[in-house]
Amino acid sequence: MPASQFICPDGTCIAIKDCLASCQRKQRCMFLPTLRAVATSLNRGISEPTVTELITGTRETYLKKTVNYAVNPQSVLYALHGSALHSINENHSKGNMLTEIRLNDEITSGKFDLYGEILDQDTGVLGDIKVTSSYKIMKALGKYKVDVPTGEVYKSGLKKGEIKYKKEWRDDGVKGILDWAIQLNYYRILLEQQGLVVNKIVIQAMCRDNSLRIANERGIDQAIYLISVNRISNRWIIRYMQHKAKAIRQALATKTMPPICTTKERWHDRKCLGYCQVAEHCPHGSSLDSSIEPPLKVVS
Ligand code: SF4
Ligand code: SF4
Repeated sequence: MPASQFICPDGTCIAIKDCLASCQRKQRCMFLPTLRAVATSLNRGISEPTVTELITGTRETYLKKTVNYAVNPQSVLYALHGSALHSINENHSKGNMLTEIRLNDEITSGKFDLYGEILDQDTGVLGDIKVTSSYKIMKALGKYKVDVPTGEVYKSGLKKGEIKYKKEWRDDGVKGILDWAIQLNYYRILLEQQGLVVNKIVIQAMCRDNSLRIANERGIDQAIYLISVNRISNRWIIRYMQHKAKAIRQALATKTMPPICTTKERWHDRKCLGYCQVAEHCPHGSSLDSSIEPPLKVVS
C-alpha cells in the first residue's frame, strides 16, 4: 500500500488525491506539478518486493505495503532529485548503452540505471546514479582522518614539549557501501541472466550538499564521485535475497509483523527517529523518544 496521505505544514493530514484536487489552505505549500511528481514517486505501482525493498528492513517494507501512512512532501523531495537525474541521463543515452530497464527473476525485480559503453571503451559497465549526502559519500569512499606529526612541539602552555599534530585525510579505509553493493550485484546477476556481460560496476554519486562547509569538513569537495563496486559471489547474494524475499512474502501472506529491522537497517535507530515513513505504525519506532533530534541523514 503506497503512502496515501500528505502531511501539511500545520501537521494535519490530507488524502493525496484530495490535496492534488484542491488545497485546503489559501495557498499550496509547493507548486502543484511538484506535488504531482512527489505523489507519482511514492506510488510506483509494483506489487512484488523489488531489489531496493529487499535490501531495506523487512519490517519497514512490510509496513509500507500494508498500512495507510502519511508523508510530508518536503521530506521526500530528495527522491525527485534522483528521478530528475535519471531522466536527464536517459534522455542523453545514445549509442551502445541501455537505460532504466526493469528485469525480473523468480526472487525479485530490479531496474538498473545504465549499462554499456558509459565510462570508457568497455561495453560491459553497469552504472548506477545516486544523489546522496556528503556523509554517505565519505563513508562510501572509505575516507577517514588521521593525526600526523607536524615536526613541531608546543613551546608553552599545558602541552609544552609535546609534539604538534595535524589532521590528514586517508582514502584507504573500509568502504561503507554494503547496501549499494548488494543492490548493484543483484542488478549484475539480472543482466547476466539475460546473457549480458558485466565487467565493471560503478556508482556515480552526486553530493547534494557539496557546497556546504560540512561537506568540506568531511573531505568531500567534488560534486560527483565515481565509486567502484566489487563483485560479490552470486551464491552469497542469491541466498541473501532469497532469505529476504521469503521473509517478506511470509509476513504478507500471514499478515504478521516481521521482527524489528536490524541495527544496521535502522541506522542505529536514527532512521526510526526521523527518517522512517512508517515509524508511527511500528512498535519500536513509536516507542522511541521522538523529542530526540535525529542526527544527519545517511541514505541515498
Ligand atoms: S498543497 Fe500542501 S498545504 Fe495544501 S493540502 Fe496539499 S500538502 Fe496540504
Ligand atoms: S521505525 Fe525503525 S524498526 Fe520500525 S520499521 Fe522503521 S526503521 Fe524499521
